[in-house]
Amino acid sequence: MEKIRMTTPIVEMDGDEMTRVLWRWIKELLIEPYVDLKTEYYDLGLPERDKTDDAVTAASAEATKKWGVAVKCATITPNAQRVEEYHLKKMWKSPNGTIRRILDGTVFRAPILVKGITPYVPGWTKPIVLARHAYGDIYNSVEARVEDGQTAYLVVEDKDGNAVSRQAIHSFVGDGIVQGVHNLDASIASFARSCFNYALEHKIPVWFGAKDTISKTYDHRFKDIFNEIYEKEYTAKFEEAGIYFLYTLIDDVVARVMRSEGGMLWACKNYDGDVMSDMVATAYGSLGMMSSVLVSPDGKYEFEAAHGTVTRHYYRHLKGEETSTNSVATIWAWTGALAKRGELDGNQPLVDFAKKLEKATMDTIESGYMTGDLIPMFHREGITPVKLNSRQFLEKIAEKL
Ligand code: NAP
Ligand code: MG
Repeated sequence: MEKIRMTTPIVEMDGDEMTRVLWRWIKELLIEPYVDLKTEYYDLGLPERDKTDDAVTAASAEATKKWGVAVKCATITPNAQRVEEYHLKKMWKSPNGTIRRILDGTVFRAPILVKGITPYVPGWTKPIVLARHAYGDIYNSVEARVEDGQTAYLVVEDKDGNAVSRQAIHSFVGDGIVQGVHNLDASIASFARSCFNYALEHKIPVWFGAKDTISKTYDHRFKDIFNEIYEKEYTAKFEEAGIYFLYTLIDDVVARVMRSEGGMLWACKNYDGDVMSDMVATAYGSLGMMSSVLVSPDGKYEFEAAHGTVTRHYYRHLKGEETSTNSVATIWAWTGALAKRGELDGNQPLVDFAKKLEKATMDTIESGYMTGDLIPMFHREGITPVKLNSRQFLEKIAEKL
């Protein structure tokens, strides 16, 4: 066939370890034979980040602002052990954090559902898309230990250092602890808009919960901002799309989600999102089946897998041992980016190709060919699942494609 043309590039952010290996194979076996692939390439692999003093990460985020669509491979966030392993100049920050700060985006995670793999919550027949507000709260908190007899205050000062308000938090009888957290109206508003926009694009309702009955100023501000923006900017659009916005207490949201069939966008405050995204991912099966996209308030997209670099598999791969690493979420990062590029450029063949690659991947699994992580979860009458190694799985998809 003649290769599908692209008019505008996708920003390609390469990564580390096992996912870097899968990255090359996905391009070679599933994309490059069919698409005249145009990318602006940034190597976010740890050695290159170290070499460029992490400038490459910021540059890739800036390029995403320019081109609008990026696809990212999983990357190592260095810790002390990695500093030694890679002889790093310093413990570089998380690339995802850096990119998120530059794009001011919200991360949406959605499970990839295939026939034969039943979620641990059997009622969840549709995907639950989880959006986490990735700013503030306990993630930028200040904390202190307090001793018996001491008092902690919450003091707000104006520009000149005059106290605007001063409240005693607690006069301690016995030792204890204290914490100060903050958030910003602008950040909450941009989170709300990102959620409402995503919901409109995917035609799913938005559920948001906080603890406004207990936290009458802090959490209540989240509730008010969501409600105000919804009423002013989205009510009509939601009605037209046949979807709705539900605000209720976080406890009530949790109960409703458990009883639901899925199919909603669950907007979470930072901590709730941290915890609930792991619960939701686990309930849908493997981390290898969870896709993720960062969307900025002005409509820039960065697609990636939700999992990491799968280090344990990579060490086996380096020793020449066979691996069976699930590449589905990484394939979805590519199809998400290609489809979005096609949509923005009015390039229908590119959109169609992305959908066909997704279908070929699902068909491969549904007909019984999969990576090891999915085998114990696969139950389909008349089909005995076959475990393939990392490369064979991609070759099998290529055959279907
Ligand atoms: P991980 O790479 O997600 O892997 C954790 C374990 O989950 C794996 O050892 C494997 O279990 C299973 N797993 C995850 N993805 C899989 C897949 N595609 N196919 C099959 N099994 C899969 O998390 P981690 O070990 O905590 O982190 C490794 C590195 O990734 C770290 O350096 C971390 O900084 C980085 N990381 C990056 C991102 C990102 O770039 N977005 C996100 C998270 C972590 P078994 O070994 O039992 O098979
Ligand atoms: Mg977490």
